[in-house]
Amino acid sequence: MNSPGHRSGRLALHWQILIGLLAGAVAGLTARGLLDPEATQRFAKTWIEPIGQVFLRLILMVVIPLVFSALVLGVAGIGDVRKLGWLGLKTFLFTLVFSSASVVIGLVLVNVVQPGMRLSEESRLKLTERYTKDVDKTKDQAKKAKTPRDTLLDIIPKNPLQEMVGALDGSSPGGGMLAVMFFALAIGTAITVAGDRTQPLIAVLEGVYDVVMVVIQFAMRLAPFGVAAMVFTLTAELGLEILRTLAWYVGTVIVGLAIHMFVVYSAVVWSFARMSPRRFFGRITEVMLTAFATSSSNATLPTSLRVTEENLKVPRDITSFVLTVGSTANQNGTALYEGITVLFLAQVFGKQLGIEQQLTVVLMAILAGIGTAGVPGGSLPLVVLVLQTIDVSPDGIGIILGVDRLLDMCRTTVNVTGDIAVAACVQGKGGQGGVASG
Ligand code: ASP
Repeated sequence: MNSPGHRSGRLALHWQILIGLLAGAVAGLTARGLLDPEATQRFAKTWIEPIGQVFLRLILMVVIPLVFSALVLGVAGIGDVRKLGWLGLKTFLFTLVFSSASVVIGLVLVNVVQPGMRLSEESRLKLTERYTKDVDKTKDQAKKAKTPRDTLLDIIPKNPLQEMVGALDGSSPGGGMLAVMFFALAIGTAITVAGDRTQPLIAVLEGVYDVVMVVIQFAMRLAPFGVAAMVFTLTAELGLEILRTLAWYVGTVIVGLAIHMFVVYSAVVWSFARMSPRRFFGRITEVMLTAFATSSSNATLPTSLRVTEENLKVPRDITSFVLTVGSTANQNGTALYEGITVLFLAQVFGKQLGIEQQLTVVLMAILAGIGTAGVPGGSLPLVVLVLQTIDVSPDGIGIILGVDRLLDMCRTTVNVTGDIAVAACVQGKGGQGGVASG
């Protein structure tokens, strides 16, 4: 998603965004120090904030077709689990275990460290007042208190189109975005069963997906300005405090990713592949560095295929399935990051999330792990989406976008290492074959 910025002669997009963050922060702090606070805030609200909104709305505009096509294609790409037999089932199970572990680590950490609570009560109140009014209004009219039974039932939509229409403003009659995701999963699974007859449908969805990615690329070109505008508005109002809070957030994500990588992967690789974690990480360093440098699971795929076959001696019938599907469908670093990010922003905006909403975040983060494109910044549209779903202002994305590239490098490394760990575990003990590809 950063590709437009990579054209030669132009500064890469992530640098432009970082510069946007710094420029917005410096301008905001200066304005706060030199000018009348009320006039500055009025100015920011009238003239600067809309620039951030243009960027955000361009992304929101395509988020429903993106999620739908990405999820259907992600599931359809896994293929008919029955045909793949053991290989498909084992891959699916390990993916599920890794993703769930990652989201749990993320949620525990963000609840313990509470990076978003580093903001003073006064600042939080200001933010809450400013950003959550509209959302709360829609929420109130849309959500009559639901019983847990209805909440679960609502995940299965009666009318998927109606759910899509209301998913972004909380006015859908049932489960909203989760129901849309369920619908996509059902269609994807059905495609794998229906087989070749559905090729035209897959081609259409691939077309939709490609077009949506282009729109997002256009929107991302505005990101440096959008981020500068959003950060200006925030720092003019809250000063340095918001930047300090951001540092806590970055630290929390990096610690979470490190725990997942070095504790969970190590334990699982040791137990199921009978491989010492040192040997495992030692042999795939090249892949980890490539993922870190490119921030793209897809771009790292050729390296991870080669290294996993050559250095870990995992046979090709396993790598070609597990790693290829995994580069889009198994992104547990991303799932962990999304969980932390969404709850962090909820804390920043003073939004108390009940257990039901936290579970929604868990589920959506796991599903988003399947629907996220393996490209730089691939998960950002989904973060915006989850924020909308739990009624936290999507403007929050402006706070985190400036530091996202660093986190993207780290989470992509975890994503790709996770795919290789699944491949090693699917292969099983002793390092030789052991799996029938059916
Ligand atoms: N850059 C990530 C990947 O390629 C996706 C994301 O989390 O943005 O795996």
